[in-house]
Amino acid sequence: MKSSEIINIGQQHVMGTYARFPLALVKGKGSRVWDADGKEYIDFVAGIATTNLGHCHPAVTEAIKKQAETLLHVSNLYHIEPQVKLAEWLTEHSFAERAFFCNSGAEANEGAIKLARKYHSDKGRIGKYKIIAAGGSFHGRTLATLTATGQDKVKAGFSPLPEGFSHVPYDDLEALEEHIGEDTAAVILEPIQGEGGIRIPSPGYMAGVRDLCDKNGALLILDEIQTGMGRTGKLLAHQWEEMTPDIVTMAKGLGNGVPIGALLTTEEVASSFGPGSHATTFGGNPLCAAAALATVRTLEAEGVMEHCLAVSKYFLKRLEEVKKASPIVKDVRGKGLLIGVELEEGYLAIDAVKKLIEKGFLTVIAGERVHRLVPALNITEEEVDRLIPALEETYSSMHK
Ligand SMILES: *Cc1c(COP(=O)(O)O)cnc(C)c1O
Repeated sequence: MKSSEIINIGQQHVMGTYARFPLALVKGKGSRVWDADGKEYIDFVAGIATTNLGHCHPAVTEAIKKQAETLLHVSNLYHIEPQVKLAEWLTEHSFAERAFFCNSGAEANEGAIKLARKYHSDKGRIGKYKIIAAGGSFHGRTLATLTATGQDKVKAGFSPLPEGFSHVPYDDLEALEEHIGEDTAAVILEPIQGEGGIRIPSPGYMAGVRDLCDKNGALLILDEIQTGMGRTGKLLAHQWEEMTPDIVTMAKGLGNGVPIGALLTTEEVASSFGPGSHATTFGGNPLCAAAALATVRTLEAEGVMEHCLAVSKYFLKRLEEVKKASPIVKDVRGKGLLIGVELEEGYLAIDAVKKLIEKGFLTVIAGERVHRLVPALNITEEEVDRLIPALEETYSSMHK
């Protein structure tokens, strides 16, 4: 099929929940993708920080093929070999002792919120159910997670929203200290805000939040859906800090494109999710778990996180050059390959995204004025070199 035919059918029959670009992608390899008319693009989106090993990584493809020939799905009524191995790998590489698998980021956060409330309820702490989140955060689109999200635009029209959620400014310990209390069940935070504009908190913020949670007997949930899976150069972004959360949620990069989410926690907190308390049909099924297991093993075996840090250093240096040459660039920031270029007031990142598509590059926004660059973690310096002049040209053509 030609791109125009695919787009035409989509516009008639797929719900219009996305303002889609007029682009139909049909093939990918590493950091390259091709549209249905054969045009090649270099991909700095990676399915929004999801295909962290690049498109169709052979180890993941092989695992999917093999599993598809063996067993696709049974049920969590039974023990599942790739699922138990994945849980073992994730707990060996994190603070956690137990994992629960689901299908998406929103579902992982939904599970984390339920778990926090159940944990306090099991301890007889009546009324300790409130969840504090941060302004500008993004936690998903289910009713509970959109309520936790600190952006009004995702909530409009969906009232009544579940009770017990409130927000404090991000990266503001004083505001949290004033707000947190005996009725707080949990604080939920992103270690770096993704959708909110690649906002990196001040050093010590996360440890300070941990401290406030401890003083108030509240659990700390870290939403690592975007920051996890090596994106910042460590498996989980909070591993850069000297603190541990009670619950971590993951999704995006976990299956390198195969839908799988996870909730990681300690033995003690996990004990509140006993038989019958929480479930999902597909969570950690043989196919998704096999893909995720191949993904995490490859992350380690191929030194992907080390590579990510090296390319990050180079990329950020080159972006500083772009900033010097482009009056419309206000700030360049990032950790690992979670990078944002903030544009000056009056400039929209979406305009840069559109112009770059024409030049053969995929990029994405993070809020109105932040141009987000989240390529596969094994992208090369040569591919970064291809983007830089195109970025400079784009920003210079936008300057008014
Ligand atoms: C993408 C994202 C989510 C939602 O994940 P879905 O799989 O789309 O439900 C939640 N939190 C963060 C930080 C995300 O980046």
